[in-house]
Amino acid sequence: MFMDMEPFIYKNNTRYCEDVALADIAAEFGTPCYVYSKAFLSARSRAYLEALAGHKHLVCYSVKAASNINLLKILGELGLGCDIVSGGELFRAKLAGIPGEKIVYSGVGKTAAEIRQALEYKILFFNVESAAELHLINQVAAEMAVVAPVAIRVNPDVDPLTHPYISTGLKENKFGIPIDEAERIYLTANAKLKNIKFVGVDSHIGSQLTNLTPFRDAALRLRVLIEKLSAQGVELKYVDLGGGLGIKYDSESVPEVQQLADIFFDVFSGLDLTIVLEPGRSLVGNSAVMLTKVLYLKQSLEKNFAIVDAGMNDLLRPSLYGAFQKIDKVCLLANGSSAIPQLNYDIVGPICESGDFLAKARALPQLVQGDLLAVGSAGAYGFSMSSNYNSRARAVELLVDGSAVTVIRERETYEDLVKGENLGC
Ligand SMILES: *Cc1c(COP(=O)(O)O)cnc(C)c1O
Repeated sequence: MFMDMEPFIYKNNTRYCEDVALADIAAEFGTPCYVYSKAFLSARSRAYLEALAGHKHLVCYSVKAASNINLLKILGELGLGCDIVSGGELFRAKLAGIPGEKIVYSGVGKTAAEIRQALEYKILFFNVESAAELHLINQVAAEMAVVAPVAIRVNPDVDPLTHPYISTGLKENKFGIPIDEAERIYLTANAKLKNIKFVGVDSHIGSQLTNLTPFRDAALRLRVLIEKLSAQGVELKYVDLGGGLGIKYDSESVPEVQQLADIFFDVFSGLDLTIVLEPGRSLVGNSAVMLTKVLYLKQSLEKNFAIVDAGMNDLLRPSLYGAFQKIDKVCLLANGSSAIPQLNYDIVGPICESGDFLAKARALPQLVQGDLLAVGSAGAYGFSMSSNYNSRARAVELLVDGSAVTVIRERETYEDLVKGENLGC
């Protein structure tokens, strides 16, 4: 039901976010801009919470998907926690009012300073990705005279059947500790490292998974490990199954959150565990569009280029992964777009790179200069992956709630671009 919640619909041939026309937003705030729907964020959060109701659980939103503190605050008020991967994300979570007991900390390269900050904030647990990291956490915790709660992120060696750049659970990936070694590390560290307490086990096998079998396979391997450890006196309280659930970018079919939850209930039945999930994309991915304007049209013998005012610095996924994101005209003609001939366009940005495109050979109703386009599914890994490359100021982020529009991050200025650069040479 929540899966089908669609805040970006056409009314009278013009596209809306909730009750606000996207064309009005572009006129007032300029392009490029990111437009998020609060109703969608709430619906997806409730979908997770309701799917897990009846079982001890914690839903920790993966901050890196979209990191704006206003989004974190909304999710936090709905009862979600955060999954962080850096001290910067911890800083954001704190500003958004997320309590430490709802934060888990993942990532392969935590520094001593970051570990200290997380211990000071009393996070729920660290997801530890190597034996060396376990030793550092133990050492920092000893210096602070505290005991650090940890889970080991195991690499279950299952193929998530997704894009290689977003696969993390195969043994050739850099993430986690191979599941065969994990048991030994739990047992030796449990005996030797006095400032560590094992509270859980974690796995995150990849992103944009549209098939549930790899989740089940990973969970089954975790259960075996949990039971072996329990038999040897290491009782875990949390099983963290990461994020990774796929979303609809085009016409692919994607599983419901409830189907995912039911797999975990089934696999872990009879064990007294709190289920932790770390969804990113599946919470926020379809909560936003990015609006961009056609600056120029250009024809070569082979191609129609539409040069738009958003580039790979604003939205990297198409360039980085060859990812498909839907692109629609915001305003259709009154007699319906089907009346206009379709052409194939390469939608490209202003960046000086041939890899700078939002779409290739995309069929769209014939465009004219000044047309407004909405790039769909821009909520996850959209703004959060944006950069200042080519000295372009990053876009404004806007939140729509019914008929209200709030600036949740101002468009950057030229002054912002040179902040911290001093003419000291
Ligand atoms: C990125 C990430 C997630 C979120 O993944 P999605 O595919 O966006 O749900 C969860 N956990 C960890 C450890 C991650 O690195």
